Amino acid sequence: MTPPLLKKLLPAKARFSLRKLYWLSRSWLYLGRNVFCPLCEGSFRTFLPFGSERRPQALCPRCHTVERHRLLWLYLQEQVGITERPLEVLHMAPEPILQQRLKRLLNLRYRSADLTSPLAMDHVDIQALPYAPATFDLILCSHVLAHVPDDRQALRELRRVLKPGGTLLLQARLHPRATTLEVPQAVTPQQRLQAFGQADRYRNYGQDFAHRVAEEGFAVQAVEYALAHPPQERTRMGLGNQELIFVATLPAHEGS
Ligand SMILES: [Zn+2]
Repeated sequence: MTPPLLKKLLPAKARFSLRKLYWLSRSWLYLGRNVFCPLCEGSFRTFLPFGSERRPQALCPRCHTVERHRLLWLYLQEQVGITERPLEVLHMAPEPILQQRLKRLLNLRYRSADLTSPLAMDHVDIQALPYAPATFDLILCSHVLAHVPDDRQALRELRRVLKPGGTLLLQARLHPRATTLEVPQAVTPQQRLQAFGQADRYRNYGQDFAHRVAEEGFAVQAVEYALAHPPQERTRMGLGNQELIFVATLPAHEGS
């Protein structure tokens, strides 16, 4: 938690750099050989517990990434060839460490975008993107859509700026219920807090998430990518057991 005075005096980028220094200095306490974070490439004796329901072995002590970040980075390296292929990449609501890794890759033309985050390169509304049609080969959009008033419009915009044959990688928190919960009467932050458990959420996705994305013109595959790795590797890299990556693609030559 940043003290209010520090928040007032320091711009967000400086605060983030300070936080990083603090994590880095504390991470020495956890150095070891039991676990490995593929994002910061640090080896530690343990990952730390994290989350409202305290998942054990979740948080990297150095770069503060959790299971889904590490899993996505592995997918990008192993399945997308992110370190080698020349790709135009759009990263929505960029996770700082992932952004740092992607920005350094000279084979990419990389843009990050967010409505307000000072860490993003472009400030945009995902429901009305300022990019030309068919601009990007790859779009990353992790844990964003539940926080967008009209997620279907956002998906149409992502589809518009994606090249034919391009890929949209999505991650989202799914609830056990079969269908997505939307409450049109919940219009204030307080009402949304009551309805969805968080004031900045507009819905809680159910198991129909992939279907919802497919309805906006994508071919969608839900990939349990942790399972592509042997159990001891899953534990060593703290990949979790239930994280899904939704791989949404467009046909190479789209008719519409
Ligand atoms: Zn790390």
